[in-house]
Amino acid sequence: MNAIHLVGIEEKFQRACVRLVQLFNDEANVTFNERKPTRKKEVLELSVIFDIEETDDKTIFVKAGLFQDNSPLIEKSITLSALEFPVKKVKKQAVLYTLLTLLEDHTGIEQPWGVLTGIRPTKLYHSMRRSGKTKDEIHEELEKLYLLRPEKIELLSKIVDRQLTVVPDLDEVSKEVSVYIGIPFCPTMCAYCTFPAYAINGKNGSVPEFLEGLHYELEKTGEWLRENKIKVSTIYYGGGTPTSITAEEMDALYEHMYEVFPGMDQIRELTVEAGRPDTITPEKIDVLKKWKVDRISVNPQSFTNETLKAIGRHHSVEETVHKYHMAYEQGLTNINMDLIIGLPGEGLEEFQHTLDVTGELLPTSLTVHTLSYKRASQMTKYKEKYKVASREEVHEMMKLGDTWMAEHGYAPYYLYRQKNILGNLENVGYALPGHESIYNIMIMEEAQTIIGLGCGAASKWVDPETGKIDRFANPKEPQAYIENFKDYTHKKLEALSLLFKLN
Ligand code: SF4
Repeated sequence: MNAIHLVGIEEKFQRACVRLVQLFNDEANVTFNERKPTRKKEVLELSVIFDIEETDDKTIFVKAGLFQDNSPLIEKSITLSALEFPVKKVKKQAVLYTLLTLLEDHTGIEQPWGVLTGIRPTKLYHSMRRSGKTKDEIHEELEKLYLLRPEKIELLSKIVDRQLTVVPDLDEVSKEVSVYIGIPFCPTMCAYCTFPAYAINGKNGSVPEFLEGLHYELEKTGEWLRENKIKVSTIYYGGGTPTSITAEEMDALYEHMYEVFPGMDQIRELTVEAGRPDTITPEKIDVLKKWKVDRISVNPQSFTNETLKAIGRHHSVEETVHKYHMAYEQGLTNINMDLIIGLPGEGLEEFQHTLDVTGELLPTSLTVHTLSYKRASQMTKYKEKYKVASREEVHEMMKLGDTWMAEHGYAPYYLYRQKNILGNLENVGYALPGHESIYNIMIMEEAQTIIGLGCGAASKWVDPETGKIDRFANPKEPQAYIENFKDYTHKKLEALSLLFKLN
């Protein structure tokens, strides 16, 4: 299925239909019209004909047929009751429901997330909860209107409960902010990377000049926070690799942050990603300890050396294990590890091996990503060169990971889905109870404003009153950042003052 015509779909439902079709094939070309299908060869044509009657008992009927080369392939009739839900919503869901079941039947691909696209599943769950619905009502709606499979509803329910245990005031934290600080450098580039990352010895902007800009941003943002008495909930250093700069540069940065930011003794969490094990040294761990960093990330991605080589990680499994122990023994015991399912050349066996080695380390939290073919990455450009597991095998790996986590005491506490993700699955953050990342919950649930400082840092404004979301992006490239950081800082602070109605 590489092209599809949808006939008879009202304009207001068309975007949702495109997203749904692309769950089956992210490159499918979707067109809409009112004409009869053209029956061109190699084009799969779908006509969806509404027969929507709001009967006395508020029943919605949708009839649809799937055609290819003049021949009807499958027909469907869906009946949904709008008794418990608003009619408008039911009508949309009925269209999506019909489309989903037609495509599932035709392709044999099951969509465990049903017709849910374009919104974070946990965010939807939280918004239903805030509107006063009981658990049973939420689960019923997710099942009936969104066609979520029971295992996904159960997963959502567990995650939401966990998040409310970790951040009991989740519904009130929009008065505070979190801060994200982006350090855009890495020792070398990985093949699947789409983060704002640049080789530290490359030609795009010097580290000292970048840091000068970052110190300026820290200072001005700190002043604004103090003047306006806005509390900081969490701080997160990401990138790139924040530990790719020297121990002295890290020390100066954190010292300045402690000087200028208000209430550093009260923030809930300070995280520094130390993703690439090849950047970790005893001196840098001392600096992280000195400035009371609560949580670091050391990211193996896979515990198979051939895979690391294939994706250009330039570090070995042995180095990851060694650096993990080094950090742990120097007192940084709250360590997250990122694993990726579906890396090139990896199947169930390799993933089991990664889990076996992880079991010898038992970090406090683990994030399991499913590989996503993001457009900009090297892997997308050279897709033929990288052989990846089938959709079925990726599903099996995900299941294996989930069972392993439960057996080792880890509970899921956040999840997000991405476009182009293998098998249309999800990325899940697991943690031993009490070691969840508060920052991850804040950002995933869009519970509060995140102020982004540094390169490629995207600020997300969450209106404390309405919850409306807006964005502000710092430049991605170090050179552009170096040339414009003052301008960006001031624009951002102005936008923040407007958001918190301080003018
Ligand atoms: S370590 Fe992370 S940020 Fe750096 S190149 Fe690799 S994937 Fe990108």
